[in-house]
Amino acid sequence: MAQQGRVWLVGAGPGDPGLLTRKAVVCLRSADLVLFDALVDDRVVALARRAQRFFVGKRAGRHTLSQDDIHAIMIRAARRGRRVVRLKGGDPFVFGRGGEEALALRAAGVPFEVVPGVTSAVAAPGMAGIPVTHRGVASAFLVVSGHDQTAFRTTIGSLTPNNLTLVVLMGFGRRGFLSRVLLEAGWAAETPAAVVAEATLPTQRQWRGTLGALAAGADTIDVDGPATLVIGQVAAMTLVEQKTSASTQAVEQAAYHARG
Ligand code: SAH
Repeated sequence: MAQQGRVWLVGAGPGDPGLLTRKAVVCLRSADLVLFDALVDDRVVALARRAQRFFVGKRAGRHTLSQDDIHAIMIRAARRGRRVVRLKGGDPFVFGRGGEEALALRAAGVPFEVVPGVTSAVAAPGMAGIPVTHRGVASAFLVVSGHDQTAFRTTIGSLTPNNLTLVVLMGFGRRGFLSRVLLEAGWAAETPAAVVAEATLPTQRQWRGTLGALAAGADTIDVDGPATLVIGQVAAMTLVEQKTSASTQAVEQAAYHARG
């Protein structure tokens, strides 16, 4: 009988391969099979030199494989004695469905390990020079998904407005709606807001403004890659040298207004 295999639920970090953990690199190098998601950088996947590598994420909004299919592939491969890496952007347990996969593996009796990753919820603001907490400015941060509008509204309804840093993942496309929910809940229109796109990659870009401007649909940043929203007083901070200088922003804003 084949030796029992194993699954590693591995966080690939926000993009830059330099932000992989050493443990993630070891797992990738020794993997027989890698199942990876859309936001995982090619250079990270390429570290799994001896593995079969399959893309199992969403393409153009469509799932190529269902979540159940992914569970079944992992379970079958591990039962055949293979070393399986399930590779996810950021951290596997931050909106990555890693929890569902862990439950499916446990139910199937397949041994698995979790290898946490650097989450974009903290790395994207950080790369833009925005600390998610800062003494005297924000003493808490909340990471929320902008994907499900009802869940977002419920979460916001349970908060005291203007009291913490909000980090919104999967929310760029719905930024107008999400900002209006915040304004209706009592958040001030002048609250600083930032958008950080493709953080940690050479293409990283950012936009800075206010919640009011975001609600008005501020489109001064062209985004096709992943983007994270930051709302709260810390979003006015710039602790590191900015890639998007004030002058570049002014040019972008002018281009936006010219476009109408
Ligand atoms: N598990 C991931 C998050 C998955 S949800 C993590 O911990 O980072 C996907 C969302 O993450 C995207 O919609 C975007 O909001 C954010 N994201 C992922 N990579 C990013 C990056 N390089 N820059 C900015 N935001 C990113």
